[in-house]
Amino acid sequence: MRLLEYQGKELFLNVGLPVSAGQVAHNLDEVESIAKSINNTVVVKAQVLVGGRGKAGGVKLASTPEEARQQAENILGMDIKGEKVETVLVTEAVDIEREFYLSITFDRAQRKPVIIFSVEGGVDIEEVSANNPDAIAKAWINPLLGLTPYLIRSVLFDSGVEKKLFKPLTDIIQKLYQAFVKFEANLVEINPLAQLPSGELAVLDSKFVVDDEAIFRLPEVQSFGGEIHNDPLEEKAEAVGLQYVKLDGNIGIIGNGAGLVMSTLDVVSLAGGKPANFLDIGGGATAEVMKQALEIVLSDAQVEGLFVNIFGGITRGDEVAKGLIAARDELGIHVPMIVRLTGTNEAEGRALLEEADITPVASMEDGAEQIVAHTQAAMKS
Ligand code: GDP
Ligand code: MN
Repeated sequence: MRLLEYQGKELFLNVGLPVSAGQVAHNLDEVESIAKSINNTVVVKAQVLVGGRGKAGGVKLASTPEEARQQAENILGMDIKGEKVETVLVTEAVDIEREFYLSITFDRAQRKPVIIFSVEGGVDIEEVSANNPDAIAKAWINPLLGLTPYLIRSVLFDSGVEKKLFKPLTDIIQKLYQAFVKFEANLVEINPLAQLPSGELAVLDSKFVVDDEAIFRLPEVQSFGGEIHNDPLEEKAEAVGLQYVKLDGNIGIIGNGAGLVMSTLDVVSLAGGKPANFLDIGGGATAEVMKQALEIVLSDAQVEGLFVNIFGGITRGDEVAKGLIAARDELGIHVPMIVRLTGTNEAEGRALLEEADITPVASMEDGAEQIVAHTQAAMKS
């Protein structure tokens, strides 16, 4: 489950990370009174799960409570990448000297948590990674040894950050790892981690993804209660017994079986694409399930292309094909779709697809490359 910024910041505060004072507001009066109590310049920030709020106009400075109210009036109700803003966080603003990037996440390929640090923070880390990959330092944590001082020094050294910041940054990295472990996160990210004119560091944003299976033993996360922000499509999928997960990119992924779905994500990433989501139809899916799967994935407004990767075992190729064709005929598939189909009843499935003018690709790699080519063309046009 992905948390809102203010929820992630609460968990950061729990481990002693330097988060500035703030409160969430649901309406303009609350915004004004929080700003009054802070009695300084504040930042009014849209609380939505998508990133890039700043660029979308969802993060604004205000020097008086009246101005905070005006900014909030623009932000509340705003649509950011398909998400409606219902709450804002009002925090004390700081002066920023420099912005760093810091995160800890699982590296699936290495099967270890990885620390990622960059002196080029503030901006989208994918942008840094594309334009200036040397500006990103990484270090992998051996789960048996834990986070050693040596490992922290190595990542800071690689990043090129000045020696005098090693000590405060080490403290932040240790606390962030504590949060990662304590709250069973899949991802914790601080961007920006700001250096203030005094030299102190401050956590200005949070991205926090908690493992869904761990929530039952995390009272701090449960306490967010009704404020927990579930993706409506995730709920819809769960209701019909499908596993759907929202991601940040533009390619929808459907597969059968967790292993195949994970490999599909990797292959698409290797081909230079970014998955928008993934949906696992599980084993033995019928045409009806396949159709529901397409309906869910296509309802994601970020999807600009679809890659369906089915390896038939107990799932039958002809059922998959029937579901795909029914979905196309009934829902209308408005984006390019690439299908790979192998295994049980493959020949029957392919024949049905070809009759319906859908040409399956030869391999998973082929499919990944084709869908990436299609979606990149969509982005340019
Ligand atoms: P995001 O765009 O969704 O990642 O939202 P952020 O919380 O990262 O805010 C976007 C940008 O707003 C940051 O990179 C900062 O440049 C700016 N910002 C956020 N908080 C402050 C603050 O307290 N003071 C100043 N001067 N800028 C801030
Ligand atoms: Mn940010």
